[in-house]
Amino acid sequence: MAGLADGLRDVVGGRTAKPLAEHLQVETVGDLLQHYPRRYESRGELTDLADLVPGEQATIVAEVKSCRTVPGRGGRRGGRVEATVTDGRETLTLTFFNQVWRARDLRPGRRGLFSGKVGDYRGRLQLVNPGCHFADDADDREAAEIFAKELIPVYPATSAVDSPRIAKAVKVALQMLDPLPDPLPAEIVGNRTLLPFDAALRAIHSPEDLAEVGRARRRLAYDEALVLQVILAQRRHETAVLSAIPRPGTADGLLGEFDADLPFQLTDGQLEVGKRIAEDMADGHPMHRLLQGDVGSGKTLVALRAMLQVVDSGGQAVLLAPTEVLAQQHYSNVRELLGPLAESGLLGGSAHATRVALLTGSMTAAQRRGALLEIASGEAGIVVGTHALLQDQVQYADLGLIVVDEQHRFGVEQRSLLLDRVPGQRPHLLVMTATPIPRTVAMTVFGDLDVSTLRERPTGASQVVSHVVAELTQPRHMDRTWQRVSEEVAAGRQVFVVCPRISEGDSAEGELLEEAAEAPATHAVLSLVDELVAGPLAEVRVAAMHGRLPAEEKDRLMARFAVGPTAEDGLDVMVSTTVIEVGVDVPAAAMMVIMDADRFGVSQLHQLRGRVGRAGQQALCLLVTKADPESPAFERLQRIAGTNDGFELAQLDLEQRREGDVLGAVQSGRRSSLRLLSVLRDVDLIQDAREDAAHIVATDPELAEYPLLAAAADELQQSSDYLEKA
Ligand code: ADP
Ligand code: MG
Repeated sequence: MAGLADGLRDVVGGRTAKPLAEHLQVETVGDLLQHYPRRYESRGELTDLADLVPGEQATIVAEVKSCRTVPGRGGRRGGRVEATVTDGRETLTLTFFNQVWRARDLRPGRRGLFSGKVGDYRGRLQLVNPGCHFADDADDREAAEIFAKELIPVYPATSAVDSPRIAKAVKVALQMLDPLPDPLPAEIVGNRTLLPFDAALRAIHSPEDLAEVGRARRRLAYDEALVLQVILAQRRHETAVLSAIPRPGTADGLLGEFDADLPFQLTDGQLEVGKRIAEDMADGHPMHRLLQGDVGSGKTLVALRAMLQVVDSGGQAVLLAPTEVLAQQHYSNVRELLGPLAESGLLGGSAHATRVALLTGSMTAAQRRGALLEIASGEAGIVVGTHALLQDQVQYADLGLIVVDEQHRFGVEQRSLLLDRVPGQRPHLLVMTATPIPRTVAMTVFGDLDVSTLRERPTGASQVVSHVVAELTQPRHMDRTWQRVSEEVAAGRQVFVVCPRISEGDSAEGELLEEAAEAPATHAVLSLVDELVAGPLAEVRVAAMHGRLPAEEKDRLMARFAVGPTAEDGLDVMVSTTVIEVGVDVPAAAMMVIMDADRFGVSQLHQLRGRVGRAGQQALCLLVTKADPESPAFERLQRIAGTNDGFELAQLDLEQRREGDVLGAVQSGRRSSLRLLSVLRDVDLIQDAREDAAHIVATDPELAEYPLLAAAADELQQSSDYLEKA
């Protein structure tokens, strides 16, 4: 008998165990039984041959249409049998070398199961020397019927270990397997009407019918969801038991004065989220909250109000930005918004006033010393900066709140550099992201954070109008595009032009090598600038911006662009890579042209076009593509052009991406930890698992009562980079 942890050699033999380990990293009985079928075939039903992909391993059910024997040149030896099989519409050739006896089995009208690697021989699909099983092989009629109906699991396979061989190994392993205990409490199995674990694991490999596959899949996916949610619940629990200094604010402090002078009304969303944050921070446990909202939804204002509450409570607040330019911009914004409230000790400063310090890597030693002093003395209530703020030399007088802007640029490890400064006691944490995250993804990937969302924009809907331009089929529209750019510039507005790569020799973002060889080349910043300056944009001031420029040069160019077109050394058109994606405000920018737009992701395009129309003016975004107007890529661009709703786009993004990309970080372990769970489909399952996990962890945080669950959680923690402890 065998258990899940046993090595496969003793169970299935070395000849099968070796290739399984080498080619599929399947080493134990548990690995093998978690190598779930990709789909199921029944011998009685024909496979759609149109779905076959050359190069892939396939197992198909088809009917023999004809068969002939081609003698070898040297007489009997070396002959081959060629059979044509069909699903009723398409046909496929089976070629058997040195197996002339096969002709006896391959009688027209017979149904069989054939498996092998799909080859492409002179434009026709074929299987060479496939494995064969016939639906009428069983002896009596009844047995034949069962045989024909039986569901055959089709496994992810390689040419070294094909699906039937894996199926055979699984069968042997299941026969030798001791009955498995259920890792879940009986209560959950009952409440959620789940199959017992042992039954589910057996059923997924040898199901009675597809309904049973569904039940088995649901049970096993539930386990994956629960383990993940238990880890996240434990993480929340750990944070919740940590202590933090409560920062309740005061009735008549900075925040009150700030609100009273605010030239506009807070939106309902800002008020509601603001209240949650205020309550979180008044508590003796650290806040751990994600604030998501589209560009311009007013997140920064919400964050600033939280920072003021902390300052009012005697603490300091840090605003961490992903780039120098953004830090600089936040710094100016915050000072402008605060006005006299940021002028402590200065003439005209308010009685409650504080100071705002800036710390970035590019400051001079003297500037740096000054900032460090203000931070250490507590004079600066608000500190804005980049990664430079994470260094040990930066000493805070009393760090009460960390606000991280643009979450995706900071890793968990970096966050913890600031969070874990005072042992046992944490500052409050607010993470802001402009990339909307659908609920299930938030629950899965950011499951240890509480999530708040700002849905409306204070200034109304974005004024960016987008159109798709087909570069190849409508060349006149391209001429018109550059003409329009000139007109914008003539009218005193600025234009961004975005390209997927820097120079001709580089590969574009997301471009695969084979793809690059076939597809027409994408536009590059440097060559496009040359083209534009030599032609349609000869009269305007054009600059090239990209990641290979030194940081100071980038900042200098950005500053020249941001000062506006009327300035002496201002710039009109910036041709750039995606380095301009985050943050920077160029108020007069009213048009963006995105070249080879099909090469960018949905949310990236949305983020990019959020860079124009910042002053609330009508703005234009042209999505230029070489994609065929009939192609899915073109249709995707049209859908993006059709909406400015970040959440609708996030959903579109999710539909377009493969599961693995969504959970990229979770999947980065040696082998994927979530095999059956789909954040796209299993919304309810994840929700249920989250509730159950919260309940389990609340009553038994150490999982003392659930040793199997604890072991599974340990294993997942170890195999996944993303879950690495913060
Ligand atoms: P985000 O950080 O989400 O991109 P910001 O907080 O920077 O958004 O706000 C975008 C712009 O809208 C800023 O100019 C800000 O001052 C302004 N703003 C924020 N809240 C309001 C409001 N309630 N009413 C009017 N304008 C607002
Ligand atoms: Mg912002």
